[in-house]
Amino acid sequence: MKAVVLAGDGTVRVDDAADPQIVDGTDAIVEVRRTAICGADLFPLHGMTPGFDDATILGHEFAGVVVEVGANVERIQTGQRVVCTSTISDGTCAHCRAGRVSQCLGRALFGYSGVYPRLDGGQAELVRVPHADRCLLALPDEVDDESAIFLADILPTGYGAVVRGGVAAGDVVVVVGCGPVGLMAVMCAAGIAGTLIAVDGVQERRKIAERLGAQAIAPEEAAAVVGDATAELGADVVIEAAGSPGALDLALRQTRGRGIISVVGAHFEPDYPLDNALMFERELTLRFTIGDPARDRDQLLASIAAGRLDPAQIVTHRLPLDAAPEAYRLFDTREATKVVLTP
Ligand SMILES: [Zn+2]
Repeated sequence: MKAVVLAGDGTVRVDDAADPQIVDGTDAIVEVRRTAICGADLFPLHGMTPGFDDATILGHEFAGVVVEVGANVERIQTGQRVVCTSTISDGTCAHCRAGRVSQCLGRALFGYSGVYPRLDGGQAELVRVPHADRCLLALPDEVDDESAIFLADILPTGYGAVVRGGVAAGDVVVVVGCGPVGLMAVMCAAGIAGTLIAVDGVQERRKIAERLGAQAIAPEEAAAVVGDATAELGADVVIEAAGSPGALDLALRQTRGRGIISVVGAHFEPDYPLDNALMFERELTLRFTIGDPARDRDQLLASIAAGRLDPAQIVTHRLPLDAAPEAYRLFDTREATKVVLTP
């Protein structure tokens, strides 16, 4: 089968790979119909994932059709159209039993190796899904494959940012970073926030944020606009979805006293100089969220099916899987906001 792997020079290539086989009785094999590139795919691309095995098939956002199930799969059936969680979970560890599925002790991220045990991903024609009954969600006819791939990761993550930020009706909410996850947060906050301000340096992303219901501004405008909107108090909730030290700095400084900074940007800076004086004086709450598709996808699926959420409106580019090298280039340079690949 065809599969997307690292080429080793900061690009990807489409390789011939062995078809995946059922390994454990709880596995399923999914024929991928749609798959997307996520910001997290860019970390291994740029050598920022320690121990990453270059042969790992990339991709953790995919939907398709079940073509084979192991002997112990009970709920999922061959022929079902499904979407998969971005990470696997065992359902039996202390975290899973307590409902903290995204912290599962047996977790692995599709398309990753090194930081987690290697698990080949879904930017391929076929993918093996462990714990299929837990990871796969059957799709109703009214939700198409392209909309469904958002349930794998970024829609639950954006939604998680809003929920864990404690966004309440009428709040002033600022979303820093309008990449795909930030845009999902904007979409989820749009019906709740009284004032919704989206911050990004890329004009195309600001346009999409405006379409989703935010007032979109450039980073250098943030202090003045948030100050004006809040009589200089600062925002009730700032969602940081960019994953850079500069974005986190901005988020901390635009939050009001006793406000919440809800971080869904990915951070790997062990020496980040956290301004604990600011944190203390303003009694700020800083909260990190990975996103929990296993917990949140049912209600988000229902919202998509009912037409209340339309995550696919952020898709800017649709390409065949064979064009993955170009797709990654477009996404990495931010010419593309969200890229969907079709095997
Ligand atoms: Zn677990």
